[in-house]
Amino acid sequence: MNDCLFCKIVAKEISSEGVYEDEDTYAFLDINPLHPGHTLVVPKVHSKNILEISEESYKDVAKTARLVAKAVKEALNADGVNVHMNNEAASGQVVFHTHVHIIPRYKNDGFVNWQKTNPTKEEISKAGEKIKKLL
Ligand code: AMP
Ligand code: ZN
Repeated sequence: MNDCLFCKIVAKEISSEGVYEDEDTYAFLDINPLHPGHTLVVPKVHSKNILEISEESYKDVAKTARLVAKAVKEALNADGVNVHMNNEAASGQVVFHTHVHIIPRYKNDGFVNWQKTNPTKEEISKAGEKIKKLL
C-alpha cells in the first residue's frame, strides 16, 4: 500500500487546488503557504527527493517549476520568487515525495531565507575539494 500523501494528491484520492498538470508533473497550492500563491510542483511518479529521483523525472519537475515560477510572479504581482527544495528531514523535508516550492516574494516581506554559519575560508575550500572528488 502506498501511504504517500502527494501520491494520493496526484491520484486525486486527496483533494488539492491544482494550478497546472501535464503528463509527468502536477502543480498545486500549498495548504499552509508562506504567501498566497505558494505552489508545490511534484512528479507524478513517486520518488523521495532530489537524492533519488531519476534525471528524467527531475528534468520534468524543473521544466514545470520554471513555467509555474513565471506564472506565480506575474499573477500575484510579486517582486521575486523563491524556487526551493527540502531534501531529507535535516533540511526541513516533511513530505517524502519530491517537491519544489514556488514562493512569491515581496520587497521587505520579512521572510529570512538563510541564517549563515560564517565558516572559515579553509573550511569552505575543504568542502569544495570533497564535493569535486565525487563529480
Ligand atoms: P517540506 O517541508 O518541503 O516537506 O514541505 C511540505 C509542504 O507540503 C509544506 O509546505 C506543507 O504546507 C505542504 N502540505 C502538506 N500537506 C498538504 C496538502 N494536503 N496539500 C497541499 N500542501 C500540503
Ligand atoms: Zn509519493
